[in-house]
Formats: sequence, structure tokens, C-alpha cells
Amino acid sequence: MSIKTIGVLTSGGDAPGMNAALRAVVRTGIAHDITTYGINRGYEGLINGEFEKLTARSVSGILQRGGTIIRTARSERFRDKKFRDRAMEMCKVFGIEALVVIGGDGSYRGALDFLKEGMNCVVIPATIDNDISSTEYCIGYDTALNTALSAIDKLRDTAYSHERVAVIEVMGRHAGYIAINDGIAGGADAIVIPELKYNFQQDIIKPIMEGRNRGKRDHCIVIAEGVGDTAKICKDIEETTGIRTVCTILGYIQRGGSPSARDRLMASKMGFKAVEILNEGRFNKAICLKDNKIVDIDIEEALRMEKASFDYDMNLAKILAM
Ligand code: ADP
Repeated sequence: MSIKTIGVLTSGGDAPGMNAALRAVVRTGIAHDITTYGINRGYEGLINGEFEKLTARSVSGILQRGGTIIRTARSERFRDKKFRDRAMEMCKVFGIEALVVIGGDGSYRGALDFLKEGMNCVVIPATIDNDISSTEYCIGYDTALNTALSAIDKLRDTAYSHERVAVIEVMGRHAGYIAINDGIAGGADAIVIPELKYNFQQDIIKPIMEGRNRGKRDHCIVIAEGVGDTAKICKDIEETTGIRTVCTILGYIQRGGSPSARDRLMASKMGFKAVEILNEGRFNKAICLKDNKIVDIDIEEALRMEKASFDYDMNLAKILAM
């Protein structure tokens, strides 16, 4: 079966590079005589019929822009079959034969529900959290990592000058990828992530005090938002050590900004691959980076995969913080 019309949407949390993926989908489609409709506001727009035909020019000048020009949304309604039926009717009206979903694992689950009802889907991993188990890389992660790292560097400068402890909370929802990797790259004394249990005395206070005893006068603690306790940890550090401790929650700044070269490249390659797959008549696939190659696996299998352990990286971080 040769596909003639597809839809593309971005869903869940926005991530830098989503636009680059969108551009790649539209332009690869054009190369194969496939018409692409951009669907506004993720699954919400699918239910509401917010479809717009995209041309090569509609996606001009967006490669370097953060966010997503077709907007994104979280759609509670899409979890309800009644609304998915409505979305399917909308797809029929526009002649959509397959859907490219650019988003995180929540969006993958939405796509899985939709494909079970008969829509062909391909999903592209895009989330700054980098927490999709089936892929070694998610679009947006590198840019977020660099944004947070540059903030950590700045906060370390001021912590050094005032001889303080800087406690920095980075994003990641329930995942600790930004925290562990920026903790290592930013030279944190301690890193706290939701995937690994921590002991306040052993894992936070001890490295700070050992550093003090070696003559270190400033300290940096990186905490993933998923730990959920950053302000309290900060207060407890100050009370326990007697060292002035300041808390910075980086927040949404990590979601914006022009995508890095890596994000643009990954997005371009993954968007291209998604449409190549559809053009070959293969459906219901998740695009992944595996052993540095862009490959595809079944969406259902992708959602069953387990996350890699953080033990190795945490051990490394502790040794290097010495
Ligand atoms: P992300 O895709 O970034 O992980 P969310 O988890 O918010 O973001 O998911 C985006 C959207 O995908 C949700 O608003 C919802 O419409 C859909 N979705 C999420 N989880 C499910 C699920 N378990 N079943 C069906 N649809 C889901």
C-alpha cells in the first residue's frame, strides 16, 4: 500500500528540535509525493480537527527555532476512546492514512492506543527528559543539557566567590538523565536522582564536609526535579553544615532555546527515517538511536523496554567529585 497523505503532530512537553523534525517529515514527504497535514496542539488538535496542509515553505526558517510551530498540548480527552473515535473521524475527513507523532513516552502510549483502533503510526522520540527506554537519544536532550550546564557553571562562579553551597534543581520529570550527566559535566560534589535511593548524610553531607577538610570552599549539588524535595534538602544542608546554602530551581528555561547541532541533526535524521518507513509501507514503528544508528522497532516493544541502570554513572560521578 502506498501512502499519499499523512498527519504530523508534536505532543507532550515541548523540546528544542521538534521543529527540525517537523521540517524533515514534511520535506521527506514531498520527495515521495506524500501530502503532509500539520495537526495543531497534539492530540487535542487531532480531536478538534485542527489540520493544516504543510508545504516545503511552511517549514522554512524553523530549523533553528526552539519550541514547536504547530504547538503542543497534553490531552486528557485522548485517553478516552470516545474522543479517539472522533479523532479517527477527523483523520478520515482529511484522508490521513498515517500519523507521525513527535513526543515523549506518554505520546507513544497515545499512539499505541490510536494504532490499536486502526491508524498507522510512527513515533519519533522528543523529550528533554531523555527517558524513552527504547532509544539512546531523544530530541531536545542535548540542548537542555547544555542550557542547564551553562547555568550550573554560572552558579558555581558565584558559589566560589561567596564560599557557598549551590543547590541546583534541573528538569527531567521522573527521570535523572539531565541531573546525572550535567552533574558529571558540571563537576557536582553530589548528584541526587529519583532512580537511586540516597542517604542524606552519606551522599550529600559527607562529600561536602570531606571537600571542606581538603580546603574546598564552594560546593555544588545537582538535584533532579523528580526527587521532589530540593528546597528541603537545601535547608537541611545549611542547618547541618552551617555553610550558607542557596537554592536555584532552573525550571522552564531548560525547555526553550535554539536547538544544538546534535538536536538538529538527530531531528533531521529521525524525521527523514519516519517518512521513509511509511513510504516503504511499514507501520507502527518507533524510531530509535541504537549503537549510533537510526533504526526502528515496534511501538509496543519500545514501550516494554526497561531503562538502563544509573549505577555506573553515579559511581563515576562520586569518584570524580573527590
Ligand atoms: P510526553 O509525551 O512528553 O511524555 P505526556 O505524558 O503528557 O507527555 O503525554 C502526552 C499526551 O499523550 C497526553 O496528554 C495524552 O493525550 C497522551 N497519553 C499519555 N499517556 C497516555 C496513555 N497511557 N494512554 C493514552 N494516551 C496517553
